Amino acid sequence: MILNNQNYHSTEANQHYWSNSQYKEFLECEARGMAKLRGWAEPPSEALLVGSYVHAYFESKEVFEQFKSENPEIIASKGANKGNLKKEFQRADELIRTIENDPLCMFVLQGQKEVILTAEFAGAKWKVKMDNYAPDRNRFSDIKTVREIQKETWDPNNGYVTFVEASGYVTQMALYAEIERRVQGRDGWIEPIIVAVSKEDPPDKAVISINGYDIQRELDLIEMNMPRLIEVKSGRIEPDRCENCRYCRETKTLNKIVHYTELINQ
Ligand SMILES: [Zn+2]
Repeated sequence: MILNNQNYHSTEANQHYWSNSQYKEFLECEARGMAKLRGWAEPPSEALLVGSYVHAYFESKEVFEQFKSENPEIIASKGANKGNLKKEFQRADELIRTIENDPLCMFVLQGQKEVILTAEFAGAKWKVKMDNYAPDRNRFSDIKTVREIQKETWDPNNGYVTFVEASGYVTQMALYAEIERRVQGRDGWIEPIIVAVSKEDPPDKAVISINGYDIQRELDLIEMNMPRLIEVKSGRIEPDRCENCRYCRETKTLNKIVHYTELINQ
């Protein structure tokens, strides 16, 4: 299957290839991952739409205009603000200005936009899409919109972690670096850079690096997890349910009584 910007996110493409988001999904809830391959979809979240709005702006003028016409819900339809951008998207405009006014952000965001690459890794076929790909500068970069850049998040396995780890961005960047390395036949990885901008008032910002140790650790984890996930996706193993996500809540049937201490240790 040949991928392009029209079919990249299609169900067919997701059946054929693994992607960072599918890998993350299967780790969170295999049952939900499988349901998505059958066409189940999560309702779009406003946070996701704000992220896409910022991305579209930095991709190109045409893409930004197209995004706005395809998502009329970003315009307020009632109240004092009627006819204007909703508050969240006025804030998104501030995030855009914050990035645009920072020379370092703009410098690392240079490169080819939305570059699709595919390669085999860990026994699976992967697809990745790089937002800003600059192989001549040994770098690729991605913008991440986040509620708070310095926020600590509790992770039961690793203690308090940064938003970069909590959101799976180290995994994503490591995977992208490895797929790029395989496509280009390089010995080492080009450098992944995250440009983070926060929804605080005024927005905070940071240009964030991920090093070779981080990449290797994440790739080892992916290689460890993939054998089971490949079996699940192929239908040879029954998917586990997390019993916690939207899909599991929608499809839950209780068959036992739980002790109250079990409520937080799943
Ligand atoms: Zn679930």
